[in-house]
Amino acid sequence: MNSSFNIESFVRPNIQQLTPYHSAREDFEEGLLLDANENSLGAPFTDESDLHRYPDPSQKKLRQLIAEWRGVRKENTFVGVGSDEGIDLLFRIFCRPGKDRVLTVPPTYGMYTVSANIHDIAIDEVLLDEETFQPRVEAILDTVTPETKILFLCSPNNPTGNTFEADKIEQLVKKFPGIVVVDEAYIDFSDQESWASHVATYPNLVVLQTMSKSLGLAGIRLGISYAQEEIINYMMKVKAPYNINKPTAELAIEGLENWRTVEFHIEAIKKERKQLRNKLEELNHVEHIYPSDANFLLVKIDNARTIYQQLAKRDIIVRYRGNEPHCDSCLRITVGTPDENERLITALKEIA
Ligand SMILES: *Cc1c(COP(=O)(O)O)cnc(C)c1O
Repeated sequence: MNSSFNIESFVRPNIQQLTPYHSAREDFEEGLLLDANENSLGAPFTDESDLHRYPDPSQKKLRQLIAEWRGVRKENTFVGVGSDEGIDLLFRIFCRPGKDRVLTVPPTYGMYTVSANIHDIAIDEVLLDEETFQPRVEAILDTVTPETKILFLCSPNNPTGNTFEADKIEQLVKKFPGIVVVDEAYIDFSDQESWASHVATYPNLVVLQTMSKSLGLAGIRLGISYAQEEIINYMMKVKAPYNINKPTAELAIEGLENWRTVEFHIEAIKKERKQLRNKLEELNHVEHIYPSDANFLLVKIDNARTIYQQLAKRDIIVRYRGNEPHCDSCLRITVGTPDENERLITALKEIA
């Protein structure tokens, strides 16, 4: 995809013509604020963060920090209620319900399909290569129709755990005639570089990240999208005016300010990922453990469904993925603390 890619031609006509809601806090943030019908007496408890005032609709401070953290421009960042909101907005901006199509590469994250179904968008699936779990570039490009608007890639991929080869992602971004989403929810557990800085080069690239995994903040619901400014502008227009609440924005900033601790956690999880792999490898009923650049392992194990149920009886919950293509008899196991992993291994030995 070269720089002549014209984003307008991909945007739904109703969105092109949309006049966005104009929120009061877009104009003024300080002064005698009698413009937004907020409660002048405040919240019903002691509150230092001015919760009776609406939050910043364009999240300037948080987005500036994110931009500095990832080495991109603030204008290339969007923050939403989890990655879910970013995915939902892309459908609403680019896909005409009942007419357009998207492309996914299973086995992969289930939310792309759920969101497509919600928006009445048809899905074409091109399975990953069975041996390598890499995307099959030619087969993907052969499946494109004039109605195909978005290609979803997840790297490192959930549930397989592998990173897609940079060369394959690059070919797809260059040749796919639509939006290419690279979901990097697990990028901080990988040694591969993020694609976030490439949004300046590729006008059709959208990179998704989240504070739910490496930052350990799944509870605050904060997802980040990176894209060229025109796409970001559309996302800002279509989102709910005050999508990110003040406590979330404040905790997200606190998370970034504690990045050294995050790095420490990432290193510990990567180390533990290796330990867990070694211990699982010793078990007779474990057939294969796939390479992982994420904070989980995909494990092929005899009688996966029974083992899943037996573990659950012992209050140890993993994810059964045996119904996914190429994932016969597989469990997806999140890397826990050393104690948690020890409990898991002990239980697996008992069950076998
Ligand atoms: C966990 C995960 C996310 C995170 O979603 P949030 O809505 O940000 O919590 C996104 N993509 C993938 C592939 C994931 O596994």
